Amino acid sequence: MLGLMQTQPLLISSLIDFAERHHGDGEIVSRRVEGDIHRYSWADVARRSRQLAGALDAAQLKLGDRVGTLAWNGYRHLELYFGVSGSGRVLHTINPRLHPEQIAWIVNHAEDQVLCFDLTFLPLIQAVHAKCPTVKQWVALCEADKLPADTGISGLASYEAWIAKQPTRYRWPELDENTASSICYTSGTTGNPKGALYSHRSTILHAYAAALPDVMCLSARDSVLPVVPMFHVNAWGIPYSAALTGCKLVLPGPALDGKSLYELMEAERVSYAAGVPTIWQMLLGHVKTNNLKFGSLKRTVIGGAACPPAMIDTFRDEFGVEVLHAWGMTEMSPLGTLCTLKNKHLAMPAEAQKKIRLKQGRTIFGMDMKIVGGDGQDLPWDGKTYGDLLVRGPWVVRGYFKGEGGNPLVQDAQGRSWFPTGDVATIDADGYMQITDRSKDVIKSGGEWISSIDIENIAMAHPAVALAACVGMKHPKWDERPVVVVVKKPGAELTREALLTFYADKTVAKWQIPDDVIFVEAIPLGATGKMLKTRLREQLKDYKLPGL
Ligand code: AMP
Repeated sequence: MLGLMQTQPLLISSLIDFAERHHGDGEIVSRRVEGDIHRYSWADVARRSRQLAGALDAAQLKLGDRVGTLAWNGYRHLELYFGVSGSGRVLHTINPRLHPEQIAWIVNHAEDQVLCFDLTFLPLIQAVHAKCPTVKQWVALCEADKLPADTGISGLASYEAWIAKQPTRYRWPELDENTASSICYTSGTTGNPKGALYSHRSTILHAYAAALPDVMCLSARDSVLPVVPMFHVNAWGIPYSAALTGCKLVLPGPALDGKSLYELMEAERVSYAAGVPTIWQMLLGHVKTNNLKFGSLKRTVIGGAACPPAMIDTFRDEFGVEVLHAWGMTEMSPLGTLCTLKNKHLAMPAEAQKKIRLKQGRTIFGMDMKIVGGDGQDLPWDGKTYGDLLVRGPWVVRGYFKGEGGNPLVQDAQGRSWFPTGDVATIDADGYMQITDRSKDVIKSGGEWISSIDIENIAMAHPAVALAACVGMKHPKWDERPVVVVVKKPGAELTREALLTFYADKTVAKWQIPDDVIFVEAIPLGATGKMLKTRLREQLKDYKLPGL
C-alpha cells in the first residue's frame, strides 16, 4: 500500500521561490571584482534568476544544456546557481585555477553552450575561447559600460545587458527531481578530470542535511561567509542551504587574503564561515599579527584537507570560535561527515574532547560509510584499525558524466553498491571517522603504514612552521621512509635537528619520525588550495635520504 502524501519533485527552483517569499529582504552582500561592496536581497536574487532563465530561453538552450561559469563567490554567480538549474539547464562551475589546457578540455567535454565569466578571467578566456567550439555565447559578468572593447571574443555580451531585456516573470519548469542540475569536475591529479553530475534531488537532500544542527547548523539568524569557492563543489552546498534557511550571505569575491576576509567578517557581523585550512592559516596570521579579535564569528567549518589540531586550538582557545572539522569530496556533493560532540562527551575533560574534535567526524543521516580491508571485508569500528573508506547515499555519485572511468562502484557481499573514496580511515565505536591518509599518500615503511597527516600535524604545531607536507621517499630496506617538507613562518628560525627533536615527546612511534626535514620556500598547492603531493614528489625526484 502506498502512502497518501503529496509527491512534489524536489527542485532547486523551489529553494529560490521559498527564499523570496519568506526571506525576501534577507541580505546578500558581495565584494565585487571591481573592489566595491554590492548589497541586495533574496528577492533580488530570485527576480534576476528569472531574468537569466529568460535569457537562456532566448539563446535557445535546450533542457539539459550546460552553462559554464568561471567566477568568484559573488551575487551574479549566485543568480546563475538558481537561474541555470531552475530552468532545467546544467550549471557547470569551472575551477579557474586549473591549467588553461585543462579548462578548455573540461569546457569541451561538458559541451558548454554559454560561458559566463568574471572580468578577472578575461585573459584566460581570450587564451582558450578559440579552442571551445561548443560555446555559442560568451558572457562577461559586468555592466554594459564595463565591457572591454576589442577583446577578440566574437559576440561577447555583458551579463547585465543580456538579462535586462528579459521579463522578471518566469514559470519554472516542473522537472523530474532526478534531472541533472549541476556538474563539477574532479581535480583529476591523475588522468583526465571526471564530471560529478548532481541532480535536483541530490542537491535538495544535501541542502537539508547540511543545515542540520549537527552538520553546518545554519539558520535565518546566521550571517554566513563561504570562503569555499562557488567554483568547486558548489561551495559545499552553502548557496542552496542558505536559500533553504534564509540566512544572510556574505560573498568575498576575489579578495581572499587575511586582511580583506577579516574586514568583511567584521563589517557584516559574520557568525559563520567555511573554508579550507590554508585560507584560515592566512586569516589567523593576520588576526594574530595585528592583535585583533573576532567580533561576531562563532563557528567555522574547516575541511577539504585535514585541519591541523593547532588550528582548532587557536580558534577555540584564543578566539572562542568553534571549529567544525568536515570531510567530503566532489563525488559526495561534498559533505560526508562533520565533527560535533555527543551529549555524553560534554562532561569530559577538555583534553579528551579535543581528541574527538580533531577527527573528521560522524556521518550525516542519509550517508552510509564503512571501512574495508584489501579483501573487501568489513573492518571493526575500534578507532584503531584502518582501511579503505567506502560511502553510499543519495548525494553520492553512481557514475561519472559520459561514463568516463567506467563504473566506479564496488559491490559488497549483500549486493549493495559503495563508492570507494580513495581515503584510508579509522572509525571508532561512536562512529567518529578519522582520515589516516589518501591511499596514495600513505607511507609504507617496513610493512607498516605511517599516516602523512599525523606527521604533518605535529610539524604544524611547531610555532616556526607555516606549512608542512610529509611524503614517502624510496628506501632500499624499508620500502619508503617519511621526510617532512617545511615552509617556515616569515622571520622564524628553525633547524632540522630542532624539528626532529620536537617529534620526540609527541604521540608518534620512534620509527614513524621522519628521516629528514627539507626546508622550502613554498609547497605546491592545487586548484582547490590543497597540497599537491604528486608535484612535490616530482620536485624531490633527485633527493636522497640521509645515509643512502
Ligand atoms: P575534492 O574532491 O577535491 O574535494 O577532494 C576530496 C578529498 O579531499 C577527500 O577524498 C580527502 O582525501 C580530502 N579531504 C577532504 N576533507 C578532508 C579532511 N577534513 N581531512 C582530510 N582530508 C580531507
